[in-house]
Amino acid sequence: MARTPIQRIRNFGIMAHIDAGKTTVSERILFYSGRTYKMAEVHDGDATMDWMEQERERGITITSAVSSFEWRKHELHLIDTPGHVDFTVEVERSLRVLDGVVALYDAVSGVEPQSETVWAQAEKYKVPRLAFANKMDRPGANFESCVEQVRKVLRANPIPVQMPMGSASEFAGVIDLIEMKALAFSDSDQGHTVELSEIPAQFRSQTEEARERMIEQVADLDDDIASLYLEGAEIDSALIKAALRKATVENKAVPFFCGSGLRNKGVQPLLDAVVDYLPSPDEVGPLTGVDPKGHPLSWERSPKAHFSALVFKVQHIDGQKYIYLRMYSGKLSEGDNVLNSTKSQTTRIKNLFRMHANRAERISEAFAGDMIALTRTRNFGSGDTLCDPQHPIVLERIEARAPVVSISIEPESIRDKDKLTEALAALTDEDPTLKVEEDPETGEMVMRGMGELHLDIVCDRLQREFGAAVRRGKPSVVRRETCTTEATGRGVFARDTDEGSIFGDVGVKVRPNARGTGRTWAAALPSTHAYVKPDIVNAVLLGVQDALAFGPLSGEEVADVHADVVSIGCDPKGNVSLLGARIAAGEAVRNALKDAGPVILEPIMELDVVVAEEHIGDIISDLTLRNGTIESVESGELRTVIKALVPLRTMFGYTMKLRSMTKGRGVFTMEFRAFDQV
Ligand code: GDP
Ligand code: MG
Repeated sequence: MARTPIQRIRNFGIMAHIDAGKTTVSERILFYSGRTYKMAEVHDGDATMDWMEQERERGITITSAVSSFEWRKHELHLIDTPGHVDFTVEVERSLRVLDGVVALYDAVSGVEPQSETVWAQAEKYKVPRLAFANKMDRPGANFESCVEQVRKVLRANPIPVQMPMGSASEFAGVIDLIEMKALAFSDSDQGHTVELSEIPAQFRSQTEEARERMIEQVADLDDDIASLYLEGAEIDSALIKAALRKATVENKAVPFFCGSGLRNKGVQPLLDAVVDYLPSPDEVGPLTGVDPKGHPLSWERSPKAHFSALVFKVQHIDGQKYIYLRMYSGKLSEGDNVLNSTKSQTTRIKNLFRMHANRAERISEAFAGDMIALTRTRNFGSGDTLCDPQHPIVLERIEARAPVVSISIEPESIRDKDKLTEALAALTDEDPTLKVEEDPETGEMVMRGMGELHLDIVCDRLQREFGAAVRRGKPSVVRRETCTTEATGRGVFARDTDEGSIFGDVGVKVRPNARGTGRTWAAALPSTHAYVKPDIVNAVLLGVQDALAFGPLSGEEVADVHADVVSIGCDPKGNVSLLGARIAAGEAVRNALKDAGPVILEPIMELDVVVAEEHIGDIISDLTLRNGTIESVESGELRTVIKALVPLRTMFGYTMKLRSMTKGRGVFTMEFRAFDQV
């Protein structure tokens, strides 16, 4: 591929509630763009079990995090985004690196809870959006209702620029309200050929009205269109498109489209819309970060600026480790020396690739706006910034979240132990939210992650991709420990060795920190301690940190506690050693915590349940039994949303329970809120 000017690049992702058709639509996109030669189908089946959903999620043909292809002389990069809340961090990671999103809805069910979560995330990163009502061929599909839900539930400004020609079994194609043409998609070549024609008579008056509404909406956002509209003048398509593009890029409007992935209808116009309305990589404002001293830095997202890029994903494909890179500015060539400013290491870049649907193409250089992959860069991890060593910048890191669920695992066969260790190393490398530790007491391996489903999928991958099947224990929640009052503790350590005496005598005062602020520590020594050498103070602070990693009550991490070092003493000869000071400090912290009313904290989740009116009573009494606190019950025209705070511990198996209480119609999302006391 020749180098594409940055104005002709689009980095976009598709976001959807599970089963809305993201995989199906992505397959069509790659097929119509000529990237794949066979249209793959998500296999059928009325799967209702969670594990089946995963199977289908995992049964996708797009294995790489990015697929690149050409559309109307533009270079499009489709970034894969996961569809389940357990992968919120992954969603945020992809939102950081894409410039636009297609929000996909099932035209029968409309806005589902997961789409709300994802929408809020897109809002947070101010990512411009298009919307697509998929499954227009299903009985009950309703384009207008889908648009209304986006307006009401998501409080967005959707502007339908298409209208469906019929719905359910009558769904025949779409009407373009800007060009005022009907678009049909040929059945003989899997929708490849798009047939343009006059709008059929039975849709004409509806179409006129819909176009009028669209122009009114655009006129509200654009003064030029407004004055033309008031004059009653004919408004040129190009003008409407330009105004819509501007409004979309500025996050003031969401152009709305429709179709059916499965029936091969409406996908090409959606790709046209990605080109027409979503921003190019240099249209989203200047790049911002900090220099190595932490001072803010900013420059253009231009190929002419200094090189900078962000590692946004690490993935193992066929035994090879790929580092996915979003190029933000400048240029990167094979053989360049780059600085990993996050890890302060300089590395020579060896292999650059552009990832296509199912293969990697070697390239020799890449430019601002590109999505590429590197191999043979052992130390790079997700969230690292790479930059020009002469012009260092560190881009904002992707927030890490604490894992909340753990299970113990062991290899099914002891011969697989090494294989398992290797596989776990690869997986934790890919996934910053997965942690694996050995329990120091039992020697058991313990895996921690974002949720039950997350860990299920990890176990599944261990077996399928790495041939390392595991036996696993029951899932349990990750806990924390904190204190409820202030207390002081003292630690003394004294030992004589051949090399001399090791001595330390430290006093530490602990007190509760506000919930969610974590653990902090400081030296708060009185002026009488001015003689204590700085390296001794540092050793004491290290001892404090060590001790805060394991609470005396449960051995779990301490959270929301502040520790002040209040005294450092010496032995009668006036000696104190680094090691002695560090050990004594740990002892002092443990003693202080024991007296400070220690308590256990557990993960508290924000739960959203969406159900029909008639089930509200059952849902609420069940949540009460689970120690939940109901925060609100909102009965809307369309559905009822129950919001509650629940301890994660009581929520295992909720999927099945909700299904049986609502005859399979209730849905929920659950997201981590905080570690707290129940
Ligand atoms: P994802 O979970 O969002 O990736 O959804 P999938 O692409 O896996 O689709 C979920 C199910 O919906 C599959 O059985 C698809 O065949 C089906 N599906 C996808 N798009 C359409 C569509 O436009 N119409 C109909 N009727 N079914 C669809
Ligand atoms: Mg899918």
